[in-house]
Amino acid sequence: MASLTATTLRVRPVGTTIDFCPVCRRERSFRFAEAQAHRYALVFDRGPIAHPHHELTCESCGAIMERAVEERPVTMTSAAANSPLAEPEVLPLVRQRIADWADMETRRRADKLHPDEREEMIRTAMLSFARLYDERPIERVHPMTRFTLTVVVAALMGGGAWAWLATGNRWLLVGGACAGVAISIGALVWIRSRCPRTRVRRWVAAALAPLDPTEAEVTAIKREMLTSRLKSGECIKPARMLKEIAHQRERLSLVKPKTDRAEPVGPQCQSYSS
Ligand SMILES: [Zn+2]
Repeated sequence: MASLTATTLRVRPVGTTIDFCPVCRRERSFRFAEAQAHRYALVFDRGPIAHPHHELTCESCGAIMERAVEERPVTMTSAAANSPLAEPEVLPLVRQRIADWADMETRRRADKLHPDEREEMIRTAMLSFARLYDERPIERVHPMTRFTLTVVVAALMGGGAWAWLATGNRWLLVGGACAGVAISIGALVWIRSRCPRTRVRRWVAAALAPLDPTEAEVTAIKREMLTSRLKSGECIKPARMLKEIAHQRERLSLVKPKTDRAEPVGPQCQSYSS
């Protein structure tokens, strides 16, 4: 689990903020954190290796979005910044964008959305989660935690082997090996459960479901990602994405009914965080 050098995403909680959630399709409250990739040599921080960004986690659906740091200048003291009630300033430009998106969503529900606006909604839904496609599960685990897990597993296995050699009781070897394997499997399950990448396809599909994009439209945004050198462009498979969108449309009761039935306008959000 531990390696000589590793990239770790350092996430520092700041407080709460507001934004438009493409999954809930309305303004929501978000947990707000500063995130930046750092290079580590064993457990020693060698400094940042990428521009910082803000990570917004929707308090309703659990979707995690990336936003530029310039949108919310953090000028609070560190003590205030770590309070869950802290609300950094949101620039007027961002407030206007939230209002514009709410207006667009109202027009979408009324089936009065301009094609350009619809294309922009599809693009934003896919780009809001683009960075998560790049993320490896281990990136959110602190190097000290990785190092500790590696030492514990090695100690259990090595200790079992030493006890076997010292006593001739092979069950001590088996016990040490089993304990090491059990801890390794538990750690992998825990690491995977913390990784947003395992949920990002559902979030993107849920955000796209009401827009019902064609494969050509998804492919066009994928090409834009590839042109911008976003790794998510390589990860997104339009045919697979369309299947997930169809599943989400069915789940959200957005599939065209045989009889006239309006799209539900109540809260669409369901928890995606489990
Ligand atoms: Zn949401």
